[in-house]
Amino acid sequence: MGVQMQGVHMGSCLKKLSGCLVLFLLACDAGVSQPDVGGETGGDPDLSAYFIVPTLCGDSEGPDCTSLRLGDAHLTTSNPAQGKLFACTAGNTNAPGSEPARITWIDWAAGTWNLLAKPFLPSGSFSPQPGVTNVSESGGIRSIEVNNLPVDGRIGDWPMSQYPLLSAIDRNPGIPAATSITFNLPINPVVRDTPTCTSLGAIGVTLNGVVLYNAVDARGNDAVAHEIVDEFGGHPAMSDYHYHFLPERLDSESMADGHSGLVGYIRDGFGLYGYNGAGGVELTNADLDECHGHDHAPLGYHYHATLEYPYTVGCYRGEPASPFLATSAEAGAPTKLDVDAEVAAPFLRGMIAHHVQALELTALVSERTRNGSVRRMAERMRIAQAEEIRLMRFWLENEISPGAAEGMPTEMPGMLSADRIQHLRRLSGAEFDRRFLELMMEHHRGAIVMAQALLESPGASSTRSSIGWFVMHIEAEQAEEVERMSRMLHGMD
Ligand SMILES: [Zn+2]
Ligand SMILES: [Zn+2]
Repeated sequence: MGVQMQGVHMGSCLKKLSGCLVLFLLACDAGVSQPDVGGETGGDPDLSAYFIVPTLCGDSEGPDCTSLRLGDAHLTTSNPAQGKLFACTAGNTNAPGSEPARITWIDWAAGTWNLLAKPFLPSGSFSPQPGVTNVSESGGIRSIEVNNLPVDGRIGDWPMSQYPLLSAIDRNPGIPAATSITFNLPINPVVRDTPTCTSLGAIGVTLNGVVLYNAVDARGNDAVAHEIVDEFGGHPAMSDYHYHFLPERLDSESMADGHSGLVGYIRDGFGLYGYNGAGGVELTNADLDECHGHDHAPLGYHYHATLEYPYTVGCYRGEPASPFLATSAEAGAPTKLDVDAEVAAPFLRGMIAHHVQALELTALVSERTRNGSVRRMAERMRIAQAEEIRLMRFWLENEISPGAAEGMPTEMPGMLSADRIQHLRRLSGAEFDRRFLELMMEHHRGAIVMAQALLESPGASSTRSSIGWFVMHIEAEQAEEVERMSRMLHGMD
């Protein structure tokens, strides 16, 4: 037993030495000089072969890695605040996740966790296709297209089921695969008076080609503390690989004064920078605002990564754009549905028809409004809904049956009668804007009702189900937009 454990341990150390920093030598030395305990004594299993020692933990700056504040109690759905995550919805306690009784690195009573005593999935033979990041700029928009696999090729040995000690703690069955996602973000984002909540799913993207999720798992708990990720910082939700915090190796460039370089973009277009502020000093939440950013020359407003919850952003300072999910032939494995076809097909057909009506409404805007924000919002909705329609058609045709996308139901919550749309067509200027926002809010609220109804279906409420993830995305996106439209409407009074 002891010998076998040691073998596994040495293997993972060698892997680390090839890619990581000298500090891992310390980790390996420490591990080798310690006897394996646990397995034979009947206590907690010895997980030390899976520990890592981040460089960030090796100095006196920044948070103490052995007692990081556990984020579970610091999610808010009402008021953004420093050190909290402003989430659009509270977690779903029934969602899958890691097994609390098997977590040895969280001190539940103290509300802290020890990063140095937490296991990470090591590297191994798993080798998906290469990561891709394409960035282009035009018309004030920066487009970042990724396939959601790491450009630097650093990824753990998925699936985790090959590591029984780890999968006993976190049963995540996912295997990362390429999914093409495009973020179209403003090059010059604007700070808004009121921040916006973050939802499950992509909140941004790293220049390493992997999307960022916010700090929580589907249960609303601190994902970085609870879930097992690989030693390169990511893990899959089904096939969607993502980071909940910034892997420190991505914080590799710094500016002249020691301030960390750019590591990615958040969905509102503001940049995400690494762990260090001016002078190269590691930041803590106390240095940042409620959205986990700050404003200083020459960067203007930007977010920073910290080792403290909420790790990347606490809320959106600007207006978040929707990422486009695209499933393309070259992206490899299509995103699988995990819900019965009898449940999924009517939902998808209904949601397509619903989105088509939203496109009909947004098409009226450019000729009738004189309001720049109404025009921009309609344009964003048009792009996002058209992409979602494409994905839903793909699922129906490829995952359910050819021809399954035929037939458009009409009786759905929030669907508007032809008469009401006809009336809207006759309006213009401020009168049109007000009516458009009212109708679109009603329409969106209907979509949220449909999404919530689907999430009640067996299997669908899991973020590890592709359709569940997608529906939560629709729900959160439309809730954000309703909130935004309601603010615009109030501003018009
Ligand atoms: Zn996750
Ligand atoms: Zn800064």
